[in-house]
Formats: sequence, C-alpha cells, structure tokens
Amino acid sequence: PPPLKVVILISYGRGFGDNVPAPFITFEATGFPPEILRDIHAAGFLSPTPIQAQTWPIALQNRDTVAIAKTGSGKTLGYLIPAFILLRQCHNNPQNGPTVLVLAPTRELATQIQDEVIKFGRSSRVSCTCLYGGAPKGPQLKELDRGADIVVATPGRLNDILEMKKINFGQVSLLVLDEADRMLDMGFEPQIRKIVNEIPPRRQTLMYTATWPKEVRKIASDLLVNPVQVNIGSVDE
Ligand code: ADP
Ligand code: MG
Repeated sequence: PPPLKVVILISYGRGFGDNVPAPFITFEATGFPPEILRDIHAAGFLSPTPIQAQTWPIALQNRDTVAIAKTGSGKTLGYLIPAFILLRQCHNNPQNGPTVLVLAPTRELATQIQDEVIKFGRSSRVSCTCLYGGAPKGPQLKELDRGADIVVATPGRLNDILEMKKINFGQVSLLVLDEADRMLDMGFEPQIRKIVNEIPPRRQTLMYTATWPKEVRKIASDLLVNPVQVNIGSVDE
C-alpha cells in the first residue's frame, strides 16, 4: 500500500490546535516506560503508526484530540498507552470506579480493545472490564464489582448499568470515544450524552472517527475542549 499521508490540520476559530507538538517518529522518542517498550518490541512492531506518532505526544500533554483515521491504523494503542501512563501515575482505587472509560460501537470491537489491554497493559498492572449488550448483565456486574481501572463498553449496555446505579464515574479522568461515527450511525448518541453527563468535566477526551460528517463534528464540539485535530490520510467530509 502507498505510505499514509500525515497532515495535521490547525483550524481557525476557537481553539483547534495551538502549539501542536512534533510527532514521535520512533518508539524510543516516546519516553514510554521500558516495560511498555519491551512489550511493543516483543509484538514485532518496528515504528509507531502515523496516528500513534501524531497523537501520543498530544495525549501525553493531557489535551483533547479528535483523530480522523481509517480502520487498521493502530488507533487502539494510540489511546491505550497514554491510558496506561495515566494509570501508572494516578493511583486511584479501581474499587471506586474506573479512571479510564472507552466507548466503542460493538461487542466485537470492545472485546478486541480488552484483548489489547490484556496484551500491552500487563506490565502496568491495569485491570479492565468489558460491558456490552447481547449477554447477561449478572457476570458483567460481578466483574465490575471486583474493580476496574479501565471500562470498555458499548453505550447501550453502559447506560443501562449507569441507570441501575451500578457504576460510579467520579474518578473518570480519561474518556475515549472509539469509532464515534459508527456509534452515531447506530443511534447511540442519546446514551453517549447521558454517559458523558455523569463524567466529571475536568477530564481528557479523545475521539476517533473514520469519517468527519456534520453530526460527528457537532458531538466533537460539544464534548471536547480545545481539541487538536489530527487527520491521517484524506478527509472526505
Ligand atoms: P484501528 O483501531 O485503527 O482499526 P488497531 O488499533 O486495531 O487499528 O490496529 C490494527 C493492527 O495493527 C492491530 O493488530 C495492532 O496490534 C497492530 N499495530 C498497532 N500498532 C502497530 C505498530 N506501531 N506497528 C505495527 N502494527 C501495529
Ligand atoms: Mg479500532
């Protein structure tokens, strides 16, 4: 395949992208803890993907990001490694609720994300629970009760559990919306908004989307604060 074109759009108007940091071209440039670098090398990865190179330095500055990139571009580790680094620093008690919340459109995607947490988060001693519909709530609630640093969830099931008051978002300081355009296409916008309303406003929000239509731009402008916008490849609006 042709090399991906990397473009950082610094938009006009309110706040899009002041002082965008330079990308991390190599893994060593990231300054990630040695155990994380070791696991990355063990996976056989040679260099950061363009989305990782561009978004890691921004995420590590605790800034909001909206990243527009196609599937297969390495987005998952793009947000998970900054999440692990946050968790290594914050020492929240996972029994009191998650610190990181990842919303994804489907059960399949949510479990894939959990698999990446298990693979790359072990050295950071990160705990993770996955919540999705189409499966009984009981075992998920039981697992949640044991405590989780990271909750990966589909919006429908998470909103149900929230309405049952079975989850506390008071500690959430990183919110990730993965495949935001797909979540909106699936009609999850009301659930997403109810969930986000329960998260403390002093949080970092990272949004990933493959397309950039009006509806996604609207929710991005409602949920993100002064985001840096990163486009990998072309944007078809
Ligand atoms: P996306 O969410 O953008 O669709 P994924 O995060 O699922 O992409 O990554 C796609 C595949 O690429 C996964 O198998 C993942 O482990 C792998 N991957 C992630 N980062 C790298 C990298 N830096 N180099 C090589 N492969 C990578
Ligand atoms: Mg993905």
